[in-house]
Amino acid sequence: MREIVAASTAPGGHWVGDGFPVRSLFSHMNGNNESTPFLLLDYAGPAEFAPTGQPRGVGVHPHKGFETVTIVYQGEVEHGDSTGRGGVIREGDVQWMTAANGILHKEFHSQDFTRKGGTLEMVQLWVNLPAADKSAEPGYQGIEDAQIPAVDLPDGAGRLRVIAGSYAGVAGPARTFTPIEVWDVRLGAGKTVTFDPEDGHTVIVVLLDGTVTLNGERALTGAAQARLSREGGSFTVAAGTDAKLLILAGAPIDEPVAAYGPFVMNTEGEIRQAINDFNAGRFGRL
Ligand code: MN
Repeated sequence: MREIVAASTAPGGHWVGDGFPVRSLFSHMNGNNESTPFLLLDYAGPAEFAPTGQPRGVGVHPHKGFETVTIVYQGEVEHGDSTGRGGVIREGDVQWMTAANGILHKEFHSQDFTRKGGTLEMVQLWVNLPAADKSAEPGYQGIEDAQIPAVDLPDGAGRLRVIAGSYAGVAGPARTFTPIEVWDVRLGAGKTVTFDPEDGHTVIVVLLDGTVTLNGERALTGAAQARLSREGGSFTVAAGTDAKLLILAGAPIDEPVAAYGPFVMNTEGEIRQAINDFNAGRFGRL
């Protein structure tokens, strides 16, 4: 059985722009790369927003060297980027944005959500790229709810949506540069499920809501995360209440990480270059 290597409950929150009150459940900015290929996971909300006329969010900003994955649970987020792509990410939708060689984008509440107000709940996950792919062309996958297959878990334990990778032979729609699983899991109170990700892969259990016990030994109350050993086979999740989780698994990228804000490269020299390129307007226009 995989061991629980590290676990933590959500720290205090901070705002990203004026639209996203987030808690960082794990982050490469803490100075380690143990979560590789995953860098960071911000959980926004659930938070109530009153109706208003001016969309809240984050204005034009760059990213380089990795991918951002936005999973919307409640509310609507509108995106536009320097490749000319954009759109509204609605409940159940996922946006998989490849910053790679450099992109500018903006992230705001949608016009409709802004006008009506309501509950916003979303996750933004940062996925690293191998050195060889950090100079790839920027890309964008707008994945709609209906494209994401849902699998019933054994014994009526709940439901698993395959966003990336595969589960029980069912493949998810996201195209990834390295082998990655992203599973959106809902468990019913009192149910237990065994998961068996590939040996050698980093595994992170992200509990967004509810109470679960991992491997019959470690209780977690959302929001929280636990990182498991890369070897050891399976692990179990027993739900004490109805629970909402993201299970992340992926092949580690064993390369150095040099990071500064929205840039994640391999060396400090590449970070300086990225800052210079951004300041010189080489990230395109938006
Ligand atoms: Mn961004």
